[in-house]
Amino acid sequence: MIIPKTTEEIELMRESALIVSKTLGMIASEIKPGVTTLQLDRLAEAFIRDHGAIPGFLGLYDFPNTLCVSPNSQVVHGIPNNTPLEEGDILSVDCGAIKNDFYGDHAYTFTVGEVSDSIKKLLTITKASLYAGITAFKAGNRIGDIGFAIQSLCENEGYGVVRELVGHGLGRTMHEDPEVPNYGRKGSGKKIVEGMVIAIEPMINLGTKNIKQHSDGWTITTKDGLPSAHFEHNVALLNGKPELLSTFDYIYQSLGISSDEELPFRA
Ligand code: MG
Ligand code: MG
Repeated sequence: MIIPKTTEEIELMRESALIVSKTLGMIASEIKPGVTTLQLDRLAEAFIRDHGAIPGFLGLYDFPNTLCVSPNSQVVHGIPNNTPLEEGDILSVDCGAIKNDFYGDHAYTFTVGEVSDSIKKLLTITKASLYAGITAFKAGNRIGDIGFAIQSLCENEGYGVVRELVGHGLGRTMHEDPEVPNYGRKGSGKKIVEGMVIAIEPMINLGTKNIKQHSDGWTITTKDGLPSAHFEHNVALLNGKPELLSTFDYIYQSLGISSDEELPFRA
């Protein structure tokens, strides 16, 4: 059942989303060779609690940590550990927070030092596909239009679009209806309605779309061992148009990047 949110609820959800955005911005300035993902996790947990919120992933479905950290060939759901990051790695960081009983949930794939041109392009295209998906989230469209936009952009580049893991509705629970696949047919799926809040999150592989699950019960990696990227935003449908509740601006401030990519989706 899809649960549309009132404008008051959407303002509360924006608060939750922004706590995650700020957490990722803090993490951005800590990511460098030699740092461990467990160190990042501890920093994120303290930061979220200092901002009057609760880590959204910790204990959810028994997940053991605050962050999902997925380096290189890991797609999503990696568990923080004591392995130091290395020059040339990429690291997807997915973070959730609960404030005012509402969840925020978004993700960004960071580079550790200099990465190869093929990885840079994978990150650029995956993020572009996120915005293509967000553009398709509008009145008159259906959920399949979002997946179609993401899939066509990424498959045109020869990338693998993960099928088993999808975006989702967001609210007082982390995963609400509808499921938001990163693939689909134009005009298919549920209608996009006013007040809908969803997490759009392309998970895109440099090689095959196929994945495997590790024996830890969590970590998902690409079947061919090639890198994978993951970007996620939280978006509300307001006045028939997509409005971002989350932002990458705190990340860009930390990294000294200027970007106007979010301007079309701001209030
Ligand atoms: Mg997420
Ligand atoms: Mg999500």
